Amino acid sequence: MHKSNDDCIFCKIINKQIPSDVIYEDDDVLVIKDINPKAPVHYLIIPKEHIININDLKESHAPVVWKMMKVVQKLASELKGAPSFNLVINNGKEAGQLVSHMHWHFLAGKNLGF
Ligand code: 5GP
Ligand code: ZN
Repeated sequence: MHKSNDDCIFCKIINKQIPSDVIYEDDDVLVIKDINPKAPVHYLIIPKEHIININDLKESHAPVVWKMMKVVQKLASELKGAPSFNLVINNGKEAGQLVSHMHWHFLAGKNLGF
C-alpha cells in the first residue's frame, strides 16, 4: 500500500473509489485521461504515493520520478504522428495547482508552445 490521503481526489481515483479512464497503470504510477481536456490528448501522470508536489520530493522518490519519466517516453512513443508533447506541472496553489497530489499533465495534438 502506498501512503494515501483520505481527503485527496487522486488518492480516491488510485484506490478506485472514484472511476477514471485509465491509460496506464503499474505498482507505482497511474495515468488517466484528464476530465477536462485542454488538448486532443490530455493525460495526468500520477504517482500512487500521496506526494503533494515537487517541493515535497525527497531523494527516496528518485525511482518513482524516473519511472514517471519513462512513462512519459512510452506515452510519446505511442502517439499517432510526431512524438511531440507538452509536459506541464502546476506546482503550488498560486501557480494553478488545484489538486494537492503531484501530477504531470501530458498534452499532445495541439501546439501549446509559449
Ligand atoms: P491542476 O490544476 O491541479 O494542475 O490539475 C488538476 C487536473 O485534474 C485538472 O486538469 C482537472 O481537469 C483534472 N481533474 C480534476 N478532477 C478530476 C477527476 O475527478 N477525474 C479526472 N480524470 N480528472 C480530474
Ligand atoms: Zn493523494
